[in-house]
Amino acid sequence: MNFDNVKYEIRGKALEEAKKLEDRGIKVLKLNIGNPAAFNFSASKKLLKSMKKNLKYSQGYSDSKGLIESRKAIVNYYKKKNVNIHVNDVYLGNGVSELILLSMQSFLNNDDEILVPMPDYPLWTAAINLYGGKAIHYICDEYNNWYPNIEDIEGKITSKTKGIVIINPNNPTGSLYPKYVLNSIIKIAEENNLIIFSDEIYEKLLYNNLKHISIASLSKKIPIITYSGLSKSHMIAGYRVGWMGISGNKSKIKDYISRLNLLLSMRLCSNVPGQSIIPYALKDKTIKKHLKSGGRLYAQREYIYNELNKIDGISVVKPKAAFYIFPRIDTKKYNIKNDKEFVLNLLKEKHILFVNGTGFNLDKNDHFRITFLAHKKELKTAIKGLKEFLNILK
Ligand code: PLP
Repeated sequence: MNFDNVKYEIRGKALEEAKKLEDRGIKVLKLNIGNPAAFNFSASKKLLKSMKKNLKYSQGYSDSKGLIESRKAIVNYYKKKNVNIHVNDVYLGNGVSELILLSMQSFLNNDDEILVPMPDYPLWTAAINLYGGKAIHYICDEYNNWYPNIEDIEGKITSKTKGIVIINPNNPTGSLYPKYVLNSIIKIAEENNLIIFSDEIYEKLLYNNLKHISIASLSKKIPIITYSGLSKSHMIAGYRVGWMGISGNKSKIKDYISRLNLLLSMRLCSNVPGQSIIPYALKDKTIKKHLKSGGRLYAQREYIYNELNKIDGISVVKPKAAFYIFPRIDTKKYNIKNDKEFVLNLLKEKHILFVNGTGFNLDKNDHFRITFLAHKKELKTAIKGLKEFLNILK
């Protein structure tokens, strides 16, 4: 393991500072983490009931891959998305996080290169670097809906490139990829013999009735691993329920699969009460009410997007999915040299916590992420504080 290039700033130094302020009795508006329950979102009563009912039957270890009924429900779920995954190729984990770590641990050999979006959800880069690989960042283009830049991806392929990560819908940008973008990525992966790792944890958090396409529905020639879970779509991040499914040409990754199976057996199984609610959860559509026009998440997205746009020197792409917004700030106008300092000083002055863009491995100092799960009243406080702080910097 190599800790040199491993970081996770969403829960980094700024959060430590926020805790110090809280210890002094100061209230901090923490818009740094995508944790719906922390903002009064709740799972449906029926889902909670299902958990309660299953507790009694969830006392033992399960199979390392997870409960068979839950894996079957996942297979059926993907069938509806035109993805064929065999039940033996579905793995349940303590959130997608655990599965990302286990995947990279079992997949990587020293110096393997994996293409990762920039900006990314930083666990991907961290996991790749931790387990001896090298994360090579490809550009997602702000001036083109934050879509992956296909030419940039092609230019970064070397003899060491083994795979490509996509995060669709994306955190931190809220971008949702159309079919032509996904097909271009498939083409590159097929031509270069790459495995695709597709993180789709926000697949159900779409605004304006948009549809999500799983990249695994577009190719059978190459191995594709699809990741998803209930943390965000069902507002139960604390229950730690995630899964991954392997589809496509598995003959190319036999060694990888056996290493993965070994690691999964060594960690015995993921938490069984969490696993047990998957069959019910996949039928539960509670999230939709928050996303439609007039719904809570929809209204919060409209509010934060419109208000940010009104601020001089800030520009922002409207997110199509998830609950993050990733504005760009005119660093010259506000004399900002370092986005980490910007976030830290905003916290100290106004007691509002965002995450700096470089925390998502962006190579520029001019972005920050706001989680807009908070009620409009709190978002209003955040906007007011941001404006006042920017006036100080001017
Ligand atoms: N993938 C992405 C893109 C995320 O944003 C997150 C959490 O924020 C995760 C994976 C991890 O989710 P969990 O471990 O709760 O399933």
